[in-house]
Formats: sequence, structure tokens, C-alpha cells
Amino acid sequence: MDHSPPLIAGRLTRRGVSGLVLVVLFVTPFQSMMMDSRLLYGLLAVRALLLLVLLAAVHRDRVAPITGGRLFLLIGLSDMVASAFVFDSEPNGVLVEAVAHGTIFSIVTLLIAPSRTRRKWSLVVIGIIFGAAATRLVPGDELLLVQLMAILVVHTTAVLALDVHANRAEVAGAMATVDPLTGLVNRRPAIERMTEELTAVADLSVPSSVVMLDIDHFKRVNDTLGHEAGDDALRHASGAMSALVRGRDTLCRWGGEEFLVLLPGATSETAAQVAERMRAEIERLGVTASFGVAQAVERDTVTEWVHRADDAMYRAKRNGRNQVVVNDRSASASRSTKS
Ligand code: GH3
Ligand code: MG
Ligand code: MG
Repeated sequence: MDHSPPLIAGRLTRRGVSGLVLVVLFVTPFQSMMMDSRLLYGLLAVRALLLLVLLAAVHRDRVAPITGGRLFLLIGLSDMVASAFVFDSEPNGVLVEAVAHGTIFSIVTLLIAPSRTRRKWSLVVIGIIFGAAATRLVPGDELLLVQLMAILVVHTTAVLALDVHANRAEVAGAMATVDPLTGLVNRRPAIERMTEELTAVADLSVPSSVVMLDIDHFKRVNDTLGHEAGDDALRHASGAMSALVRGRDTLCRWGGEEFLVLLPGATSETAAQVAERMRAEIERLGVTASFGVAQAVERDTVTEWVHRADDAMYRAKRNGRNQVVVNDRSASASRSTKS
């Protein structure tokens, strides 16, 4: 299973890119003090100018953090390679600079490259930095080059090991909240969002509703068509329902063949309309489901709220299945919030 997009998205923030740019801008005057070449002053000035433009663009949301990170890396690497050909510095200075670049840029690469190839890209960047340093240290300072290689190998090994660890933690985190069969969130994030909703309901007296649904006679589906077909039915039902919810809504696999839909801002009437659309869509797939709707009431708890939706859902089952039932207390809550 590849988790590329979400892994990349959270890895480098706007503040992170701005911080990196500011640090390099901060050390630029000190770097220029140590130099006596016009060409290098020019190079530093161009770098500072590009970084300032980048900082402004990131700050104003003109470029995404990932793009900002990529541009930062490109500017840094070009600077490193260009100065390798014009800078006539002390060998120790070359070593320090290569270690600094190697430390920063290999990590930046891990943050911005696509998940699957980011370790490879990190090694490529280290290779470029090492190559640039080598053109300045050879011939004559091979020993320093060996030292540099040792430092970069140790550093890279540690960083890659940490990355493997971070990656596992991220995947485990995603798996703990996402149902692998349907790709929907599971109970835990749904409960968290319901808790947040209850706070909003209490503060602002806005309505909020949940829909609980359970596929009818699902045991029979499994028994007659097989477990695989049952899994397919769950996937199709969740796909059909996903198409009917909006951005702020949460569709969750509550467990087994039960799903819960949280509809912030919806009265029980609105929620019942959404549920009715879902009922019709699921019926088109060749299975049916029973729905219970409950609107949040004053001083509600998540347990009581879900319990009322569950109650209504069981009433729908008892009334003959394949229907939507609204919990009684929700109907009066709906009347009081609509006015
Ligand atoms: P009712 O209309 O009263 O809800 O009847 P039902 O058969 O749906 O209810 P019951 O709770 O007896 O059976 C639920 C079945 O759902 C039993 C279980 O094997 C099946 N089930 C739960 N999770 C999955 C799953 O992930 N995949 C498949 N294929 N079946 C599942
Ligand atoms: Mg059930
Ligand atoms: Mg069922």
C-alpha cells in the first residue's frame, strides 16, 4: 500500500521552509566576510536575492511548501556546485561547507521528494555534494576527502534509519485510523469529530446529526455469494455513500457492516434526506440497509447520541428494513433549532 501523497503533504511546512531560508540568509554576510573574490560576492548576492524572492513567495502562499523546499534545494545545490569551480578556499573550509550542505540538503530531500524515491534522491544529493567537494580537495587533500566521506556515510546511515522509523510510525498511524477494506475512517476519528461537534453544538446552538446504518441480512449475502462478494458489497456501498457526503461530513465504517455518517450543520430532517438518498443508492447495488437518524441535543454525550441513532436504526429493522427512521428526540430538537 502506498501512502505517498499524505506522507509528503505533512512533512514540510511553510514555517519550515521559511526557517531554512532565513538561516541561510543570516549566515550569508558572515560568509562574504571570509571571501576576497568579486565573483563570489556576486554569487552570494544572487543567492541572497533568490532566497528573498523565495521567502516572499512562500510567505504569500504563491508557492506550496513542497515547491518552496525544492527551490531551496535547487538554489543551494547550484550555489555549492558553482562555488566549487570559482572558490579557492582552505581545504578545511571546503570540508566544513560540504558537511554543512550534506547535513541540511540530504534531510531536505527526504522531506520533499516523492515517498517512494526519496531515499534514492537523498543519496543523489549527497553524491552531488561529495563530487563538488572532491573537485576542490583533489589533488593534494585526499585524506580530507576520505574524512568527508566517512562523515557523510555515518550521517546518511543515521538519517536513513530515522526515516525508515518515521515512515513506519506514519503508516501505523494511518492504519490505526483508516479502515483498509473501504478506505473510510474508522471509529476513533469519528468519535473525535463527534466530540468536537458536540462542543460546537453547545456553544453556538447549531444543529448536528448522525446517521447510523446497517446492511440488511448481510449474513445471507456472505452465506449465499461468499465472503469476497460480501467485501465487494461493503466497498461498493461505501463508495456510493462517499459520493453523497460533502467536505465537512464524516463517513465512517463503524464496524462490520455498520456505517456512521456525521453531518455537521444538519437537522435531523436534512440528515434523513441524505439517509434516504443513501438508502436508494445502496438498493441499486442489490442490497438494502436500515438507517437511524439522531440530531444532537443539549448536554448530549457521544455515547447517548450514537445510542439514539442506533435505537432508530433498530426500529427501522423491526419495521421491515430498507428504510430511514428518525429518533423521536431528534424531531423536537430539529424543530427548536430551525426557528
Ligand atoms: P440484519 O438485517 O439484522 O442486520 O442481519 P445481518 O445478517 O446483516 O446481521 P448480523 O449481525 O447477523 O450479520 C452481520 C454479518 O456481517 C456477519 C458478518 O460475517 C458480516 N460481516 C461483518 N464484517 C464483514 C466484512 O468485513 N466482510 C464480510 N464479507 N462480511 C462481514
Ligand atoms: Mg450489524
Ligand atoms: Mg446487518
